[in-house]
This record gives sequence, structure tokens and C-alpha cells, in this order.
Amino acid sequence: MNRRKIVAGNWKMNKDLFDGMRLASELISDSSKLPSKSVEVIIFPPFPFLHTSISMAKRVEQITVGAQNCHHERSGAFTGEVSPSLLKSMEIDYVIIGHSERRTLFNESDSFLLKKLISALNCGLKVIFCIGESLDIREKGHHLSHIKDQLEKTVFKLDPEVLPNLVIAYEPIWAIGTGVNATADQAQEMHHHIRQLLVDHFSEGIAIEMPVLYGGSVKPAISKELFSQPDVDGALVGGASLDRDSFMEIVAHRIKNN
Ligand code: PEP
Repeated sequence: MNRRKIVAGNWKMNKDLFDGMRLASELISDSSKLPSKSVEVIIFPPFPFLHTSISMAKRVEQITVGAQNCHHERSGAFTGEVSPSLLKSMEIDYVIIGHSERRTLFNESDSFLLKKLISALNCGLKVIFCIGESLDIREKGHHLSHIKDQLEKTVFKLDPEVLPNLVIAYEPIWAIGTGVNATADQAQEMHHHIRQLLVDHFSEGIAIEMPVLYGGSVKPAISKELFSQPDVDGALVGGASLDRDSFMEIVAHRIKNN
């Protein structure tokens, strides 16, 4: 299976400038030693660190830099927001859309997220689009239908032409930042479900090519087993991406399981 393998680190609102630049520089240096094209390493530092991180990462093909969010409009009176075209002009490759923290803390609905998805993809950005169920939904046994519903309201409304630039991240909300990860079996079940939904709605070809990442308390202790699952193509890592050794160990596990 030649699907892209990805390990992405979402730093969220962490690190000050000094620590952030040190971590970026260490990860860029570590990534430069990875076998070329074995895995895509993407870091998502806070907005103020993006410009310097991109300049530093430019010379290393094994690592890219992304933004944690964007607005859907190209420009205008949106104080504090950043547009996809602005990110593109900075040579940003990736943007995260639909993270559960944006959905829950900033009330971003599926219809609003669809606008962002369309805008970012039309601008030529690659998107990691997050979906996932709450603990309540999982305990009621409605997680599979919930994910279908989220996809129907967002990804399934996209033009198939933009899909090569889309990556899906399955991030169960109950696993994010809690230390309680989905088991490898739970992740595989959901990733297989997502891929089957992509087959049913789009095509087998699109489903086979689309990377589906797992996110939710990924640590080196569990990443090896997660990556041994056939439909888990990589990870979106929060907490463990703030630590050089933990993050690079997860990257190493992804490479070993290729
Ligand atoms: C995330 O925020 O996307 C995430 C998965 O966080 P953590 O790894 O800390 O659970």
C-alpha cells in the first residue's frame, strides 16, 4: 500500500518564542536524517512562529510546516483572523481544519467548517480535516453513524478534484489530551469505516489514496501498535509533539511500520 504516511505535531497554544524556535530547529535537524520520502513530518507551531519555522524548514525535504487554523474569506475586516491565501503566500503547505477544540470552544459547526475546507483547498493548501465523536456518543454506540454524519456534512460535499490535498484525522474527543487513547482495534475499526464510506460516496481509488490519521493521546508507547493497523496511516499528535524525543520516536515507529 503506497498511501502517504504522515506524523503531524499540533503544538496548539504552547511554547514561547525561544522554546518554540529551539524545538522547531531540533525537529528540522532530526528530520533531515530520515530516509527521504519514508514519512511526511509536519509541525503546526502557533501563528507567530510560522514565518521563522518555514524559513528554517525550507532546506529539509522531510519536514513541512502547517498552520493550526484559517478563516474562509480571502481578505477583509476580520480582526485577528488569517486567510488561506495569506498562508499560501507564506509558503505554508498544510492547515488543520475542524479540530475538536475549534468545534467545541469556538462553536465551529460543520457548515462553517465546510466553507473553510472549500476555501483552503481551492487556495491550494493541503488540509488535515479532523472528525471525531464525544464520549457520550461512543458510550451510546452511535460513533460510526456520527462520523458518517460529519463526513456527509463536510467532505462529501467537496469536489473530488480537490481530494488529493485532503487528509482525514480521526480524533475521538474523549481521547484528546486525556491520556486515554483509542485502542489499536478501535482505531482500525473506525479508520476502516471511514475508508468504506469514502468508497461508497466517491470511489475505491479515492478511498485507497486518502491518508487517514489517528489522533488522541498518541505516545511512543502506543504508536507502534497503532501503525501496525492497515488503515491507520499516521498520527496527529498533540501533547507528545512538544517533546523532541517523544515526537521523533513516534516518527521512527511510523517509518518502521511502512
Ligand atoms: C490533538 O490535539 O490533536 C491531540 C490529538 O492531542 P493529544 O495528542 O494531546 O491528545
